[in-house]
Amino acid sequence: MGAALALSACGGSDSDSGGGDGGGSGDKAEGKIGVILPDTKSSVRWESADKPALEKAFKAANVDFDIQNAEGDADKMQTIADGMITDGVTVLAIVNLDSDSGAAIEEKAKSQGVKTIDYDRLTLGGSADVYISYDNSKVGALQGEGLQKCLGDKDANLIYLNGSPTDNNATLFSQGAHSVLDKNTKYKKVGEQAVPDWDNEQAVTIFEQLYTKVDGKVEGVYAANDGLAGAVISILDKNGQAGKVAVTGQDATVEGLQNILAGDQCMTIQKSATGQAGALAEVAIAMVKGEDPETTGTVTDDQGKRDVPAVLLDPVAIDKTNVKAVIDAGDMKASELCTGN
Ligand code: BGC
Repeated sequence: MGAALALSACGGSDSDSGGGDGGGSGDKAEGKIGVILPDTKSSVRWESADKPALEKAFKAANVDFDIQNAEGDADKMQTIADGMITDGVTVLAIVNLDSDSGAAIEEKAKSQGVKTIDYDRLTLGGSADVYISYDNSKVGALQGEGLQKCLGDKDANLIYLNGSPTDNNATLFSQGAHSVLDKNTKYKKVGEQAVPDWDNEQAVTIFEQLYTKVDGKVEGVYAANDGLAGAVISILDKNGQAGKVAVTGQDATVEGLQNILAGDQCMTIQKSATGQAGALAEVAIAMVKGEDPETTGTVTDDQGKRDVPAVLLDPVAIDKTNVKAVIDAGDMKASELCTGN
């Protein structure tokens, strides 16, 4: 891998282009913002990208905040929410672990006069005041287009490894990818399965079964995020096929980008944490002040039969030609990418 990492992305020195030094200015805003992240296992993004970006954005805005992680436990998320509200949080943002538990947290918060925000994942049947995310159907479409680009003009058997069935985003990612790939008559789907809780370890077993079932006759794998891509690559590697089968990803993690630079992963999706955290901070601060937050449109929650005011950001496809964009966005330092593991 070392030689591949000598690409241009690894050539420069670190620069902090992430905007704002978090010093804070002016009067402290009233109130307190709570954020509950979902887990530490479904993607490294929550602790390594979102959390520091959120801390930086809240510090820069000089507002009190509390960020905690539910570690994959929905009961724990409710307990954290209760504790935050007791501690004076007036705006609560959650990344739900499933829609039912997310809706219960939001309902209880609302009954206590606390405003809620869905961060990244829409809570179906929930009551969040605002949804902040990337355009997740577009994420899926970009993954499909990326896989198509890597495969070129050849016949290909495809396996789909989707994200958690309880995550509305995973549904949108998969639909977006299918909307592109199903149109290509050269492609044949030879397997598809969802990975419970986006669990990377289960993904290894699930993919190995799908792969063995078709005797390894597969040219492309739709893996919904970089963690799942890593699981796929480990099985391909075991079979001497890493780098020969095109694999997608998402989150532009260190692992994903290194796999791209090494030639084992075809692409990933950058959903800048700096951008998403900044959007959350703006909305949450307006809410803390009792103002109406600015949104860019609405998303439909079919289950709850309502349109939720939303801020939807634009995802960017990353392949070996533009890895540096992740560093330029302030989401990662060159040193993390080039030496981190
Ligand atoms: C997020 C992805 C993440 C996945 C697993 C999704 O809801 O949008 O960025 O990889 O959850 O945590």
